[in-house]
Amino acid sequence: MRILLTNDDGPNGPGLCELRRELAALGDVTVVCPAEERSGVGHAITYLVPVRARPGRLADGAPAHLLSGMPADCIKFALLVLMKGPPDLIVSGPNLGANAGVDLFYSGTVAAAMEGGFYGVPSVAVSTSRENEADMAAVAAQAMRVLRLLLGSGLAPGAVVNVNIPPLSDAEPEIRLTSQYAVPMIEEYVRFRAPRGRVFYFLDAAKGTAPAPPGSDVAALEAGAISVTPLRRDLTDEAAMSRLRDALTVVKAKTYD
Ligand code: MN
Repeated sequence: MRILLTNDDGPNGPGLCELRRELAALGDVTVVCPAEERSGVGHAITYLVPVRARPGRLADGAPAHLLSGMPADCIKFALLVLMKGPPDLIVSGPNLGANAGVDLFYSGTVAAAMEGGFYGVPSVAVSTSRENEADMAAVAAQAMRVLRLLLGSGLAPGAVVNVNIPPLSDAEPEIRLTSQYAVPMIEEYVRFRAPRGRVFYFLDAAKGTAPAPPGSDVAALEAGAISVTPLRRDLTDEAAMSRLRDALTVVKAKTYD
């Protein structure tokens, strides 16, 4: 089995070494990751300037290709330039910080998995609550537990799955199949004043607007369960489609008849 591993936290991202070592038990692992941290870039790509990959190493000495671009670029570049033929599986992560709810739109980790799906490769994004930073080996082990189940289930070509690991304790967490809780959060900027009177703003951590519904990714994490959400790339709002169809038919008749 050939596996492509990427992330958005860069070569020093917590848990990248641990997950690579675990994945090596399943097959040959190629690591292609952003040369520097690219958290929160979403599905950004690099095309106004060239990209460059240089050979590098992870903290444990494992070889990695370090790309000057974004997480989604890593997938494109790996598949189109670095790898001979598409891999059997793409894993993106582990990201330090959960990627649930509307964060899926901001996440470079999830975008890399989605990009893998574009290319028809089964792709799994793995993120963890920040509380687990001191034990990323345990995060990698839980990620493998889910990956083995997913692989055993037979991932379809281009399937994209978003996995979140909750704060871990001694007990093995339950695994829940969930839906994205795609409700916007309450956000705020923290204002601070720098020397010479300059004012800066930092976007603060977002808070939920209401309790997340049962069955959602956010609720699973709050309950201490591993969240597994199958994702799709079609953003079409089918309900709005039927409402707009009549309105747009009228416009077309007035314009062209
Ligand atoms: Mn990140």
